[in-house]
Amino acid sequence: MKIAILSREPGSYSTKRLKAACFARGHKVKVLDTKYFSILVTDGEPVLYYKNRLLEKFDAVIPRIGASITSFGTSIVRQFEKLKVFCLNSSNGIMDSRDKLRAIQILSKHKIGLPPTVFISQKESIMSAIDSVGGAPVVIKLLEGTQGMGVILAETNKTAESIVQAMQSTKQHVLIQHFVKESKGKDIRAFVVGGKVVAAMRRSAQGNEFRSNVHMGGLVEPVKLTKEFERTAIKAAQILGLKVAGVDMLEGKDGPLVMEVNSSPGLQGIEQATKCDVAGEIIKFLEDQASFPEIDIRQRLTLDQGYGVAEISVRHDSELLNKTIKETQLKKQTVLILSVIRGDESIPIPPSDYTIQEGDSLLCYGKLSALKSYVKKHNTTVRIRSM
Ligand code: ADP
Ligand code: MG
Repeated sequence: MKIAILSREPGSYSTKRLKAACFARGHKVKVLDTKYFSILVTDGEPVLYYKNRLLEKFDAVIPRIGASITSFGTSIVRQFEKLKVFCLNSSNGIMDSRDKLRAIQILSKHKIGLPPTVFISQKESIMSAIDSVGGAPVVIKLLEGTQGMGVILAETNKTAESIVQAMQSTKQHVLIQHFVKESKGKDIRAFVVGGKVVAAMRRSAQGNEFRSNVHMGGLVEPVKLTKEFERTAIKAAQILGLKVAGVDMLEGKDGPLVMEVNSSPGLQGIEQATKCDVAGEIIKFLEDQASFPEIDIRQRLTLDQGYGVAEISVRHDSELLNKTIKETQLKKQTVLILSVIRGDESIPIPPSDYTIQEGDSLLCYGKLSALKSYVKKHNTTVRIRSM
């Protein structure tokens, strides 16, 4: 394969390791500095230039889009997607995970543990916001900070208020988050590749520092994840649509609390701590996937006028209850069940003799008119996802 690594840092440990892993597995590879691309948008074929020349053909792209170039970088990834080049992480996945608020908003409806977090814009709301996450100490975070920079611990309500006020006065948006004391300056980084945790480490902050980031002097050690932490990491990456992700979790008193999901996680700390060949795992996964490019379902569905995706939640009084899929006659109404979500489990393309139970969530594709009629007729909650 011919692989492009999009990176602003060709000399960094991560880029060098990915490059070496490509070579080791017999691929051609080029590191392209994201900054030097330009996009030509026309009505016809999408076009990409690199250093003012038409870009050569690649089979796959590994985007390593840092926070300094999120918007431009994701536009480049999107253009590769339009060119039907397989991108290890999608532009949407990178965008959704990059903004800490957006990421936890997306995760929040999936019952993934999250530290209580509040977002405000009015200075009059600061005090009640601090109260709503349990009062000081609280953690204040810039929406797009990385490596621990832009994360501050405020010990008292007064300090928290002053920090938020100062940030707001310079038009910086911040989150106010409950300080998870019991994690004691430690956190877990799980490295997810293709729906599997390939390596995991515990990071411990040193001295008076509460941030455990390696860039803040945090020490790393390998860790064997419990099932709960493993499941949470995989689920978080999956919900955000990331094939490769570094999921950061705090060890809360009731289990994992996801702080953030990184779409370009660093390899140095994790490889050194765990001795795993994470770069090799990434390239192995890429080989497997590159022949199977992703389609942007949201864009495809707009082409089928009058069709959409909906999630039907089956309540205790639903007419669908205890019926097999065949008995529901959904197919006759041009509704296909793509998958059934039951608790933590997901059953893709369920068989026709599958019996629907209370609490099931049916992910359906079909005629919008039919899907909408379920609100009235079957007394179920329907959320139309796309139309
Ligand atoms: P960054 O993107 O800068 O890494 P994080 O949200 O991951 O930002 O926070 C950096 C570090 O600060 C974490 O790794 C963790 O050690 C610490 N931290 C962040 N939020 C909390 C919190 N709510 N409670 C306790 N520690 C936290
Ligand atoms: Mg982090």
